[in-house]
Amino acid sequence: MSAPNKHYDPVEVTPLHPDEVARMRDEALAAVAGAADLDQLKQVRLAHVGDRSPLALANREIGALPPQARKEAGQRVGAARREVTEAIEARGQVLEAERDERVLVEESVDVTLPWDRVPRGARHPLTTIQERVGDVFVAMGWEVAEGPEVEAEWLNFDALNIGPDHPARTMQDTFFVESEDSGLVLRTHTSPVQARTMLTRKPPIYVVCPGRTFRTDELDATHTPVFSQVEGLAVDEGITMAHLKGTLDHFASAMFGEGITTRLRPSYFPFTEPSAEMDLQCFVCRGASVGNPDRPCRTCSSEGWIEWGGCGVVNPRVLVACGVDPDRYTGFAFGMGLERTLMFRHGIEDMHDMVEGDVRFAAAFGMEV
Ligand SMILES: [Zn+2]
Repeated sequence: MSAPNKHYDPVEVTPLHPDEVARMRDEALAAVAGAADLDQLKQVRLAHVGDRSPLALANREIGALPPQARKEAGQRVGAARREVTEAIEARGQVLEAERDERVLVEESVDVTLPWDRVPRGARHPLTTIQERVGDVFVAMGWEVAEGPEVEAEWLNFDALNIGPDHPARTMQDTFFVESEDSGLVLRTHTSPVQARTMLTRKPPIYVVCPGRTFRTDELDATHTPVFSQVEGLAVDEGITMAHLKGTLDHFASAMFGEGITTRLRPSYFPFTEPSAEMDLQCFVCRGASVGNPDRPCRTCSSEGWIEWGGCGVVNPRVLVACGVDPDRYTGFAFGMGLERTLMFRHGIEDMHDMVEGDVRFAAAFGMEV
């Protein structure tokens, strides 16, 4: 700040020269006009009307002028500062209005959007096919039986005539429950439910046992360590292999279409004697693809039959182990994998689809029961 000087001409004090005041004003007005938002405008206010702004500093120079020159200089600087302040106010109102409008758009809630599109999901096809199997047998007067997934080793193996040296008892196939001598395993098949049923009930027995089973397989396109089986057991007086065949044929036609039958091939299982592998007649081509290259069938690989499960007449040793008199009663049993059944029934090609729990897979089967 300069010292008072009576001989000063205001136009000689550079910051108070009309051209200089006009320049400072124009610069400030340009900055105001260029402020794109309220934050920038705040900076402009500090720079052009704040205590350290050029116009404020010029105002302080007025005191250094001779008294007769102060009025004119004061009016000139005052007018410039007022003009800038008013421009800032006006610009502020415009920017605030713009901000409010933008916030209204950005934070608006579109009340016309649908609110009820929560996906419904669907029951897993393994569950629905289990129930379908149950329905077929319940309709014949059978009952549905269930057992625990953590099973006594004795019921899972010994009672079913699977001796201690049988390969299925090695660690390769079976999940043993700690400790190793606990006598407990994750059941490797649904057959222990047969043993439990015979141990707790008197014949006649007609039960179907669907359930989850476990083996130490790696998950790949055709294997899974957790899988599902359905098992059937009939124990009564005079039960023969013919009853087994008739039951399986009825089951096949109920599941896959009228007239679909089964075929038995000799095999071996410890818990049945005689035992048989069971094939299902191809429900897609019904055998028409066999020897007919013009009509290949993907479902049965043009073989006419699809491997479905195992079956046989209950081994008398199993009846004895489960407290059933083998001289009076005979029985038959059968079992098949449900994942495999689903795979060829619905053309599912990868086991992963069934175990990964993707709702889009289950939804494709709808609410089929
Ligand atoms: Zn076929």
